Amino acid sequence: MTSNNPIALSEPKKRVSLQSQVTWGQRTVTVGGDAPVRVQSMTNTDTEDAIGTAIQVKELANAGSEMVRITVNTPEAAKAVPYIREQLDRMGVDVPLIGDFHFNGHRLLTEFPECAEALSKYRINPGNVGKGDKRDRQFGMMIEAAMRWNKAIRIGVNWGSLDQELLANMMDENSQRVVPWDAKPVMYNALIVSALASAHRAQEMGLPAHQIALSCKVSGVQDLIAVYRELGRRCDYPLHLGLTEAGMGTKGTVASSVALAVLLQEGIGDTIRVSLTPAPGESRTQEVVIASEILQALGLRKFVPSVTACPGCGRTTSTTFQELTQQIDNFLRERMPVWKHRYPGVENLKVAVMGCIVNGPGESKHADIGISLPGTGEAPAAPVFIDGEKSMTLRGEAIAADFQRVVENYIDQRFGSSNEVATS
Ligand code: SF4
Repeated sequence: MTSNNPIALSEPKKRVSLQSQVTWGQRTVTVGGDAPVRVQSMTNTDTEDAIGTAIQVKELANAGSEMVRITVNTPEAAKAVPYIREQLDRMGVDVPLIGDFHFNGHRLLTEFPECAEALSKYRINPGNVGKGDKRDRQFGMMIEAAMRWNKAIRIGVNWGSLDQELLANMMDENSQRVVPWDAKPVMYNALIVSALASAHRAQEMGLPAHQIALSCKVSGVQDLIAVYRELGRRCDYPLHLGLTEAGMGTKGTVASSVALAVLLQEGIGDTIRVSLTPAPGESRTQEVVIASEILQALGLRKFVPSVTACPGCGRTTSTTFQELTQQIDNFLRERMPVWKHRYPGVENLKVAVMGCIVNGPGESKHADIGISLPGTGEAPAAPVFIDGEKSMTLRGEAIAADFQRVVENYIDQRFGSSNEVATS
């Protein structure tokens, strides 16, 4: 049907991919096909520290990570994996764990069957499975473990650890071309060929195609876009997206956001991770928050109620407005692990926190619930708008706490009715 709308919204047309399932216990996370784009993260604890790792996995899962990857790099780490899983199960955290293997994964998955069983998915880096004639045999051992335990895998190629034999061969072949390609496209092609050849090899051994996801991570935004466009064109495996070594803070956030946004808008990507270097003391969960925000900003997923806030200006000379906005944002995010079970649909809520009378009442009326704070020189009163109507005016020192109570009451009334029996 042709739309008469002169300004049509552009909606991503999802690339057609196979659908796989990553499971633990009763929890099944579907990946690819028509499943929503999934958020992944990775711990930065020493996996041998089982308790510390289990705690961080729990934090990441509570922040919204739908799968969590952990390093499995030593026999002690492999021994710790079933214990980490047990701790998580005991805490009621059923997030699937992905084991990240390099160099010795074939041995760890074979010699520690309880580790192989406790993981829900294995990440295999074809550049780090072994050299020469060991390569195929060791890769094969990891695929055999995946088949034995019925686990999904990700063939995760990274340009920092690209198979150097493959790259050298492809560079040689390139030099034979009548008009050789530049070195960069040859390297991109090597990344893609490495991922696809490994996936085909896994399939030849008997691993079903739908249990295989691919990634080809690079650290440049334009490079990542070019590689994934081509990778997506050449296969129908689910794709895991991420800008590797994105960096810290604003730089890492912006680079990851723009790279992932371009690809997701083109329908490329079935799972994402934001590989952010945390600042000292910064929570690891920040990478989950940013990944979720990317998907929510693109309109692909809804995770938490959205907060519309003005930037503030010369009319907001005190910090009250910034503090209130931050408190409301934190409050909504912190309450979501409980609310998402108690109040289905609460993630669609729109909240507005505005700095003054110029746009405050108007923007607050567009939200489900909004507050318009008094700007400099205005009377010290904050009108609250609910469902487009002015509902009350808050005053005094405790406006933030009062507004949080109003928001929670509104949520309970609007989203809580379907849970009345369960929660009474
Ligand atoms: S709503 Fe008021 S405080 Fe906020 S940016 Fe606009 S004019 Fe400034």
